[in-house]
Amino acid sequence: MMRQCPGKQFRCTSHVEMPEDIFAGAKLLQDDQPRPATASDVVALSAALSGNTHCNCCTQSASPLYERNMADHESAKLDHDNHLLLDQSLVRLPHELLRKNFRSAHVVVERDKEAIKRQLREATIKGLNGNTSRDDVLKSLDNIIARGKKLRTKLGACQTEESRLFQQTEARVKHLGQLQGLHTLDDVKYEGWSHARLDRLLVDYLLRQGYSDTACSLATERNIADLVDIETFVAMSRIQNSLRKGKSVAEALAWCADNKKELRKLNSNLEFSLRFQQYVELVRQQTPESQLLAIAHAKKYLYPYQQAYPKEVKQSCGLLVFTPNNPGNPQYAKLFSDDRWEMLADLFTRTYNELLSLPSIPLLHVALSSGLSALKTPACHSHTSGQGVNADGDVDMAGSTGSIGDSSGGAATFATESYTNGRMCPICSAELNELARNVPYAHHSKSHVDHDLMLLPNNRVYGLERLKNHAKKQGIEEGKVKDLRGRDVYDEKDLKKVYIT
Ligand SMILES: [Zn+2]
Repeated sequence: MMRQCPGKQFRCTSHVEMPEDIFAGAKLLQDDQPRPATASDVVALSAALSGNTHCNCCTQSASPLYERNMADHESAKLDHDNHLLLDQSLVRLPHELLRKNFRSAHVVVERDKEAIKRQLREATIKGLNGNTSRDDVLKSLDNIIARGKKLRTKLGACQTEESRLFQQTEARVKHLGQLQGLHTLDDVKYEGWSHARLDRLLVDYLLRQGYSDTACSLATERNIADLVDIETFVAMSRIQNSLRKGKSVAEALAWCADNKKELRKLNSNLEFSLRFQQYVELVRQQTPESQLLAIAHAKKYLYPYQQAYPKEVKQSCGLLVFTPNNPGNPQYAKLFSDDRWEMLADLFTRTYNELLSLPSIPLLHVALSSGLSALKTPACHSHTSGQGVNADGDVDMAGSTGSIGDSSGGAATFATESYTNGRMCPICSAELNELARNVPYAHHSKSHVDHDLMLLPNNRVYGLERLKNHAKKQGIEEGKVKDLRGRDVYDEKDLKKVYIT
């Protein structure tokens, strides 16, 4: 079932038909524990996420007399650059991973090359000198061959990874290339493309929330496995869980070791924080052995960073005096607290995102908030300030419309009632009204309403020039105007100037 936006009814600049599922998508974001997306969810939010959601004028002023032809043409034009803003990570991530893969292959080759050359030299010298047995020389050669085979296996894995990343890049470039071939939002192919993008955003969101299985199913079902980063997020999720649930720093430290150089460039404190946590865990055990181990650990991993983290290093010294049951002051109680695991998981997530140039928040949030912002008008939340929209969908500047001023009923009552009259804008719907409350208004550089809007006593709004022309044609006496849609005739002096803010 499709719900119709008022934009279409009033021939708004660029009306949008709101799929039923857009509301399911909005609920997905509202839930603390988001439910896994089903196949039907994936159609959700496409209108709000695509560029054709601009129906600002629908509720701003419901006059049916907007001049639209030029505006329709302009707003239907596809802005490729704006679309690509959201998709930067789509091509950037495989590129980053390719670089990382190449670097690890390079390190392995360099390390093994030197080791093999050294072993070969030693075996040759021993063989030539004759002070070693033939079997020992053969054993050395076997070791060299075994090392060579290991190297081949490692490089084989790097090659497989490289092929996968090239395949992904190719698929992504093709996907973005399809957009370049489209020039208008009305193109039927654009709908298919924007649905594929919505699927990508939902998979990204699910992966970030830890619903890897659902994300995989969705990606497989929609045939977009090459357009989403399942492996990257699954790896991230595994380490997050080892910190949050497993309370273990081992996996995170291994990741730090793999990315040592890059983390140093980022000036990241992740490794230090993980080592600090190891120290806290040793102190927590409160046995003489563990205290000694803690001191040795601090000497090796914490004191060398005294310059960079003076406060933490001092705290680590003080921590030896206290016990988890008697932490002395809140500062030390905090160090013993289990909340530190949550902090470490968040720090890891931030670092991981930064290292791979991934957006720190789900792209779905970015897209949805920009969609909400584009649609939001002052009238959408005006029931709280005594203004609203009457049953005809006309602007009620005086706020005289019955139930909408009820502050206790709030947005939901207003939104539901208004929605059921069939002329509601998406932001005024119960599902999106609260979500949109805190997003800013979009910057609209062009106005598509008449410049000389006047409010008639019946709460309808029209341009003065139009009213005068209409009155002239209808033979109404000078100084009076007639409602363009009704039969009411008013004195010009009874009209009030309307300012669009
Ligand atoms: Zn609204």
